Amino acid sequence: MENRERENHRDQKSSESLGDTPPEEFRRQLHELADWIADFRENIESLRVAPDPAVAGLGAVRARLPAQPPEDREPFEKILSDVDRLIIPGMVHWSHPMFLGYFGWTTTSPGILGEIITAPLNVNAMTWRTCPAATELETVVIDWLRQWLGLPDEFGGVVYDTASVGIMHALAVAREQAAPSTRKLGLIRQPPDNLPRFRIYTSDQAHSAAEKAAITLGIGEKNVVRVSSDDEFRMDVNLLGKAIARDRQEGFQPIAVVATVGTTSTASVDPIPQIAKICRAEKMWLHIDGAYGGGFAMLPGYEWVRKGWEMADSIVINPHKTLFVPLDFSVLYVRDLERLRRVFTLVPEVLQGDTIEGEKNYMDYGIQLGRRFRALKAWVIWRSLGRQGIVARLREQMRLASLLANWIKSDNRFELAAPVSMGVVCFRFVGNDESSRRSEAKADPNAQLVERINASGRAYLTQTKLRGRTVMRIGFGNVLTTEEHLRKAWELIRETAGEP
Ligand code: PLP
Repeated sequence: MENRERENHRDQKSSESLGDTPPEEFRRQLHELADWIADFRENIESLRVAPDPAVAGLGAVRARLPAQPPEDREPFEKILSDVDRLIIPGMVHWSHPMFLGYFGWTTTSPGILGEIITAPLNVNAMTWRTCPAATELETVVIDWLRQWLGLPDEFGGVVYDTASVGIMHALAVAREQAAPSTRKLGLIRQPPDNLPRFRIYTSDQAHSAAEKAAITLGIGEKNVVRVSSDDEFRMDVNLLGKAIARDRQEGFQPIAVVATVGTTSTASVDPIPQIAKICRAEKMWLHIDGAYGGGFAMLPGYEWVRKGWEMADSIVINPHKTLFVPLDFSVLYVRDLERLRRVFTLVPEVLQGDTIEGEKNYMDYGIQLGRRFRALKAWVIWRSLGRQGIVARLREQMRLASLLANWIKSDNRFELAAPVSMGVVCFRFVGNDESSRRSEAKADPNAQLVERINASGRAYLTQTKLRGRTVMRIGFGNVLTTEEHLRKAWELIRETAGEP
């Protein structure tokens, strides 16, 4: 009897905690969180940019977390204080103004607000019916961006998480164009319908997303041909033509070229108009990877960035890299989007009733069924900045890049390793004297320098390899990074390299 009473008491207690947090408690937690977010943003400079390797090395965060999942409920206050205690010190703070790695993508206050508004809505934007506003807003922001970029209106788009996913979908359409009914029959066919091996071409500077797509689509990583780039890291069009001709002779079927506007290492821009001509002549798909650089087409005076885009079949742009939208938000534009729909539409029985309207069902445009309401955060940030605010911030990134380039040029211990393009600067420490400059035998100090700077927690850079040599790389993009921060970073680099 006593036991039963105890059980009843426990059930009664647990039923109190069924459902959601009581509204008043939730309101209090939200206010607490609002203060936490505002404090984090305001005090971010007091944090190390990257964890201290001495106290937060490999496995250190995991070691401080319980291995067993929680059995009983824990209060939000405790969870939030554990974020401060356990998570924040183990992070690389991409929103820190001294974070100058990769493409320096940014956190913004309106972007945070956009994410916060999205959270309670928590819809699944798979069909128009499952959330008309999410679908229609997605169509609207995709078209705003199309207009800003100056893309012809025959391009329609779809939002994915990343550019890698976008390129995979673009190349799936290219594959279907090269061999209709691959969607239905696959690539392995019985004679006499055997297919030749497909080939895709991209430059030696392009992102590995092309290979990932080829792996996923059964085209094969080895069938992505890396065409050498010229002195300015742009695809060599003559070599592209030769590679296609050679492959045709050997029985391959060239199906697509992936050209890049803003390569990952140096932000170089491939000669799109010439590449487009080859694609037209060879009846090949032209995909433009504008994941980073595409956004710069918005700048008045930078129309050259979008030269030849009107001849492309598909273009990917990552507003989460360049256009201030919080990660993740990538747009794939396809000329005649219907071709993409035909490759991927497949309506399961349970959704037949949800797809009767003529409005777009974005689940038809890719392998993903469930879809986040990503358009909302783009809408919030783009309205908060406006075109002028975006353009002004992109110009500031370019100003900082050219300022840094001038500092590098005026210190003979350093040299630029590539032309400065958009918001990216690649440079090398070459030492004090000619002998160390020429010494091939000497270990390259550039990788070590980046490691030491990042370990200091005072700034964060990236290293990359250009023509086999390690170089340091700074990418701008963070709205909090000012000239003063850059000056401090440059002093730190010089100090770490050893003052002359
Ligand atoms: N393309 C380029 C030029 C990139 O630099 C990157 C990533 O840096 C990608 C594609 C892949 O982007 P995502 O992480 O959105 O897949």
